[in-house]
Amino acid sequence: MRDRQMRDRKTVLVTGGAGFLGSHLCDRLIGDGHDVLCLDNFFTGSKRNIEHLIGHRRFELIRHDVTFPLYVEVDEIFNLACPASPVHYQHDPVQTTKTSVHGAINMLGLAKRLGARIFQSSTSEVYGDPFMHPQTEDYWGNVNPIGPRSCYDEGKRCAETLFFDYHRQHGLEIKVARIFNTYGPRMHPNDGRVVSNFIVQALKGLPITIYGDGNQTRAFCFVDDMIEGFVRLMDSPREITGPINLGNPGEFSMNELALLVIDLIGSRSKIAYLPLPADDPKQRRPDITRAKTLLAWEPETMLRDGLQATIAYFDALLSSDDDVDERETRKSGWAAAAAH
Ligand code: NAD
Ligand code: UDP
Ligand code: UDP
Repeated sequence: MRDRQMRDRKTVLVTGGAGFLGSHLCDRLIGDGHDVLCLDNFFTGSKRNIEHLIGHRRFELIRHDVTFPLYVEVDEIFNLACPASPVHYQHDPVQTTKTSVHGAINMLGLAKRLGARIFQSSTSEVYGDPFMHPQTEDYWGNVNPIGPRSCYDEGKRCAETLFFDYHRQHGLEIKVARIFNTYGPRMHPNDGRVVSNFIVQALKGLPITIYGDGNQTRAFCFVDDMIEGFVRLMDSPREITGPINLGNPGEFSMNELALLVIDLIGSRSKIAYLPLPADDPKQRRPDITRAKTLLAWEPETMLRDGLQATIAYFDALLSSDDDVDERETRKSGWAAAAAH
């Protein structure tokens, strides 16, 4: 795409830019004509996700941990740095809280110094195991403060608090998105989340691991729809701060998801029921009225279509150099946990 006129062209920092969502966001921003500073410590992200951007004249990669201060000059910040899969964020829970909290403080301090607009990738996990269904943004949630998921849930809640305090106290322009389960190409094959697990298992003919009785529900949003939501929220008028739910309201049980994946792949995999992890939410579905009204946004991709695109990605990945990912995964030490 042609470069933007100078006045539209921004320099945008994407923390967690080598991750699943971050790498798609970098693609989108480069496509829109911006200069992108991609920051990552490669805890769960991979150079593979952004290797096609290396060498692009408007793309720059920085290896850095957001828990340390950062001095760069940018116009906008998307703060995505944080492991998202339960297997990853529970691997080093103290680091997870530090990433959410110290990371938010550093990125907010940077935004304050620069007068830059800043976006926070918050999560539906702030609702915990919700009593309200579907979840609207004014629901305060039901979160265990001391359980195995707390490092992530409470870290993200504290980050939201910091965003709103910097907004009230220092007049920062903030954009807080509460992201519901998102899937698509570039999820890590061993990342332990349900969509990648089921697809990889079905492609390999391994048992499909359903935790609990499989009646718990989630609402799955395809990555392209989510990135469109990010950009619309970032570009929205100053008074729109969020929090805003971004997700696909289509709700499915894990049993339904498993059968759909088996059907789409034509796999002979059988289902294996395993114990349910602690504090696993029983149901989750976004109310996206606010996003529809304020951003004119709603997801367009049906689960079946998004799954097909994701299956094609994993099929190509597994038949090419699967061993590279296996090596990367073993090195980082969470492979055994991901295999449950
Ligand atoms: P991901 O694990 O693929 O990406 C996270 C990225 O952050 C990785 O590249 C990782 O290396 C990097 N990172 C982690 N700690 C860091 C640190 N201290 N300093 C610098 N970089 C660090 O996960 P994702 O699915 O792309 O999630 C991106 C963001 O969206 C996360 O903040 C996550 O909490 C949020 N989110 C995602 C989902 C989802 O379903 N994918 C749902 C809710 C919220
Ligand atoms: N910070 C940063 N980059 C900057 C400005 C600040 O990383 O360009 C970090 C720095 O570590 C600081 C934190 O952001 O401690 C919070 O900044 P703020 O100005 O809110 O508070 P300070 O601690 O500087 O009083
Ligand atoms: N899950 C499952 N089998 C798997 C991985 C996950 O049944 O191999 C379940 C998990 O217990 C949860 C749901 O799928 O109920 C979504 O899990 P995921 O880790 O993808 O996201 P989150 O729990 O954060 O919504």
